[in-house]
Amino acid sequence: MSGDIVTGKCACEEVKFHVRGNAITTLACYCPQCRKASGGSGHLLAIYDTEQVEVDSGSEHLGTFVIEGDKTTSGHDKVKVFCKECGTTLWYKVNEGERTVVITATLDADYEKTKPQSEIFTRNQPSFIPRIDGTHRFEGMVAPV
Ligand SMILES: [Zn+2]
Ligand SMILES: [Zn+2]
Repeated sequence: MSGDIVTGKCACEEVKFHVRGNAITTLACYCPQCRKASGGSGHLLAIYDTEQVEVDSGSEHLGTFVIEGDKTTSGHDKVKVFCKECGTTLWYKVNEGERTVVITATLDADYEKTKPQSEIFTRNQPSFIPRIDGTHRFEGMVAPV
């Protein structure tokens, strides 16, 4: 993904935010929690340092839900942050809040540029979901994140 600033918003547009600079990496995650949270085959994600992500308006509409480590595939707590008005999941806080994992669908970027570099939890990827060309595939969690 490109440097500079990319804006983003939820479906009702009450919450607006921006990310600054390049994502650390981009992922497609097929873990069971992402599948449930997205209502689809999983999440498409971009990982940032939390300081790269800033809310511009609507922070009063943000809700959080902690998915505790005994319920996550990784074994670590994940804090899901969503818009209380429209229900859009915006991002997850992980690594004790150090990293913010943004749902790329919420970004206003050219969606082509959010292409995942890796697919993770491929052991949970059903055969009817096509593989993405040119990604690194990991059966579970990707190591450096
Ligand atoms: Zn909203
Ligand atoms: Zn996941």
